[in-house]
Amino acid sequence: MADRYEILRELGLLPLWRLRRAAPGTVVTRPRNAEAQARPTAVEIGPGSGADPLPGRLQRIAALEWGEFGADVAACTACGLCQTRNKPVPGVGDVHAQWLFVGEAPGAEEDAKGEPFVGQAGRLLDNMLAALGMKRGHNVYIANVLKCRPPGNRTPTPLEAEACRPYLDRQIALIRPALIVALGKSAATTLLNVDATIASMRGRVHSYQGVPLIVTYHPAYLLRNLPDKAKAWEDLCLARNTMRRLRPESDRGTGLQTGTIGPTLKAS
Ligand code: URA
Repeated sequence: MADRYEILRELGLLPLWRLRRAAPGTVVTRPRNAEAQARPTAVEIGPGSGADPLPGRLQRIAALEWGEFGADVAACTACGLCQTRNKPVPGVGDVHAQWLFVGEAPGAEEDAKGEPFVGQAGRLLDNMLAALGMKRGHNVYIANVLKCRPPGNRTPTPLEAEACRPYLDRQIALIRPALIVALGKSAATTLLNVDATIASMRGRVHSYQGVPLIVTYHPAYLLRNLPDKAKAWEDLCLARNTMRRLRPESDRGTGLQTGTIGPTLKAS
């Protein structure tokens, strides 16, 4: 693994300062509307959007166990993406993880390999994890809102996100993470059922069905907007401090120093 200095340099986070602010308290984000809080009801599904070819789909997905999860995703035809993707990308990692990172959708490399975040953005995510003293697969699970690649890496449509959402909900119910990090706007707005900007969602602890959720920039965005890596580091420090508050034992075995390091930047 790259050493700590290399990781922080890659994140654009050198030189180091001490973070002065304590993590703020939990804030529950208001949903778009009261109805939106209810879990999805009717979703237009079927290749290219028809009726639900499998009545009881939501109930079936809500009852899936890990042993059947991947096959169920692979057999899904709830939106048109199953027709254009190569491999489904259900998720990867420790199914008992305390940390859950959620991205948007698989890209070309993920689509070829069947694993999330294995391209350039994935390498940055691995470095972000390493900067927190963590490693893919060890107390970390990585998933996406969409399990199939949208052609040309376009943004998921609301219909696609809604059709795929039961799988993400089931993953979260099975993993029961202590903390969720939403990577980018798609993950944050889908999980929180809100329509908001990243800037307005950062810097606070939200709640997904009682699980603390922190919003940060998507690694692919950070690759194009290097100065915002410092803000992402601030978000990761908030995530780490929140986890420490919730699970004081969580640093054990991570190799983390007890002092908090990172740039002293104002939240935007
Ligand atoms: N971007 C994502 O949101 N997810 C991936 O798996 C890869 C790139």
